[in-house]
Amino acid sequence: LLADDGTLAETVFAEMTALAARTGAINLGQGFPDNDGPAHVLEAARAAIAAGANQYAPGRGISDLRHAVSEHQKRFYGLDVDPETEVLITAGATEAIAAAVLALIEPGDEVLTFEPYYDAYGAVISLAGGVHQTVALPWPDFTPDSDALERAVSDRTRVILVNNPHNPTGTVFSSEVLEQIVRLAVKHDAVIVTDEVYEHLTFGARHIPVATLPGAEDRTVTISSGGKTFSTTGWKIGWLTASAELVNAILAVKQYLTYSNGAPLQPAIAVGLRSDDAFFTGLARDLDAQRRLLNDGLESAGFEIADSAGTYFTVANAAPLGFDDATELCRLLPEKAGVIGVPVSAFVTPQRESDYRALVRFAFCKREDVLAQAAAQLAAMT
Ligand code: PMP
Ligand code: GLN
Repeated sequence: LLADDGTLAETVFAEMTALAARTGAINLGQGFPDNDGPAHVLEAARAAIAAGANQYAPGRGISDLRHAVSEHQKRFYGLDVDPETEVLITAGATEAIAAAVLALIEPGDEVLTFEPYYDAYGAVISLAGGVHQTVALPWPDFTPDSDALERAVSDRTRVILVNNPHNPTGTVFSSEVLEQIVRLAVKHDAVIVTDEVYEHLTFGARHIPVATLPGAEDRTVTISSGGKTFSTTGWKIGWLTASAELVNAILAVKQYLTYSNGAPLQPAIAVGLRSDDAFFTGLARDLDAQRRLLNDGLESAGFEIADSAGTYFTVANAAPLGFDDATELCRLLPEKAGVIGVPVSAFVTPQRESDYRALVRFAFCKREDVLAQAAAQLAAMT
């Protein structure tokens, strides 16, 4: 997290996207789609700007979007969420995560994440003065060992921070793993904060929101975002749902982080959440085709891949190519293959770096012609 001079280091995504710009290599590093979101969502944003939705939105978010989030939780998961008291609109999932962690822990409290973990988690836990504990997701199936999970949670654990479907591994947690998390949270009176931004991006596996499990709803903060579902990562419209008590605690922090954001984008995301079923199934189907294209290319190039069940990402092992150090490979890849990837070691604590050293994360949320080109270049790599 800290650079050698003690300042916060640049994120790996910023570094890799800059490397792509400098070298002209195909950017399979940072996870953002290279096509625009659905026309009906984009049009709704234009209409909202024209209609004058250009001043501050309310701190909790506009009523229409809070209602749309509530309807979405009911429609897809059967959850009852009160749009007035149990929904908070945030500046992307990133702000929801930061506000939740800052609101829920005191300095010295423990926060448990799985490892590898999305980079913002480690940063925000340390900004909040928390103690970061992790449980490994071992290559290649990325399922936590249940004894290790049991040992990692104690009465010192204040928050279990889950990410499902999981970035960077592409794993979708089974009901057994999720049930164990809930059981441990109940036993040790911890809050579950669950980042489900990839909820609609699954391939075959069924996404189970933690909040749907018995005993979870009252102690779970569920986070998602319009960025992935509507291919609008630059809009930064996110949300969380939780009990009124938890929402109020998180709102108290959120009001001093951004107060509110994206007034004309909020109604557009509400339109998106009310899209028909064909939109949601089409999104996953298209992405699945992109996933297969990239995976075939990586396998032809000699990588061993862990077949991802969700997200934008595939993790590939470079060891069969003679590369034990993926960081070194990622620095060479623009020149060798004209492609950018991210070393999985960017998502782990130093103690576990050696377990993930040979692994690279590639994003497949790119147009098929771009992926075909990347696959051909990887296969021709010497
Ligand atoms: N959580 C995870 C697991 C992510 O991969 C990302 C980034 N795509 C985010 C949160 C951030 O989401 P947002 O852009 O909505 O802040
Ligand atoms: N979530 C995106 C990824 O994992 C990156 C977001 C960012 O740049 N912070 O690639």
